[in-house]
Amino acid sequence: HAKIEGRGRTRYFDQSMTRDLVRRREIEAELRAAIQKDELSIFFQPIVDLETGRIKTFEALVRWFHPQKGELRPDEFIPVAEETGVIVTLGNWITQQAAKAAAQWPEDVTVAVNLSPLQIKAPGAALGIFTALREAGLHPSRLELEVTESLFLEDSEATGSFITELSERGVRFALDDFGTGYSSLGYINKYPFSKIKVDRSFVSGKDVGKKSDAIIRAVAEMGAQLDMDIVAEGLEEIEQVTAVREAGCTLGQGYYFSRAVPDYLAAMLLTQERDGISTMRKVG
Ligand code: C2E
Ligand code: MG
Ligand code: MG
Ligand code: MG
Repeated sequence: HAKIEGRGRTRYFDQSMTRDLVRRREIEAELRAAIQKDELSIFFQPIVDLETGRIKTFEALVRWFHPQKGELRPDEFIPVAEETGVIVTLGNWITQQAAKAAAQWPEDVTVAVNLSPLQIKAPGAALGIFTALREAGLHPSRLELEVTESLFLEDSEATGSFITELSERGVRFALDDFGTGYSSLGYINKYPFSKIKVDRSFVSGKDVGKKSDAIIRAVAEMGAQLDMDIVAEGLEEIEQVTAVREAGCTLGQGYYFSRAVPDYLAAMLLTQERDGISTMRKVG
């Protein structure tokens, strides 16, 4: 029995691997055309001030509405875009769209854009960002770039000069998914991050673990000392909002407040907020 079962499982495994590979190939072929065909769009998820409940930032998150495959998540096609180099074109397009949307918002609201390491290391990366800002008429201080620690794995000169060049002009940087990689304090010391985003694995689960809670507290304490905002990602329940706020996080993001929404809805949330209509759910 064991033998038959074992063989069956092996075959199933092979088939699913082949399916994955086929799907990746398809995605690769279609991704370049997808921008032209208007299949991609940028959604915006609010990042909320945990004291006031007001929206401070919208994070731009790319979506692909594929005519056959349906809605594709970035985790499915961003890695393919990276492998094939399409990420440079795609990344520039995303920054352009995000900057255009943000130019319509009140001036104290910023937009956060995720950058892949490959995008940053490509020639002319900084110029691409400045061009997007200029064309949209958005002041550099209203753009935040989210990077992960994987960017620093090979400490390239290109990375350093990219960050320096942009931050000298007022663009801000956030360290994304903190806690999942090396969580090196060296990067925080070396680069001018204004924000640290604590990965949602530290806030997830109904019972906010004692250990995770202690880690968030420590990161929040460091943030306060270094004058950085600490964002708690993946807040789904009010209990989590209360916990991370008490732990000292200054900002929060997650389904509790809102999922990522199309640009017209993001603008509407801000209009209502400005008119005194509270749009975000209570922070506690
Ligand atoms: P990220 O930058 O850490 O973005 C946060 C992800 O968490 C988003 O997933 C968001 O929809 C999801 N999220 C937000 N709140 C909650 C919550 O309460 N619960 C749960 N379970 N999830 C929540 P999304 O949009 O699927 O993006 C996944 C990742 O793909 C992003 O992680 C980012 O690394 C990458 N990505 C997304 N858009 C872009 C982009 O425009 N460019 C690049 N280079 N990467 C992108
Ligand atoms: Mg992000
Ligand atoms: Mg993140
Ligand atoms: Mg993430």
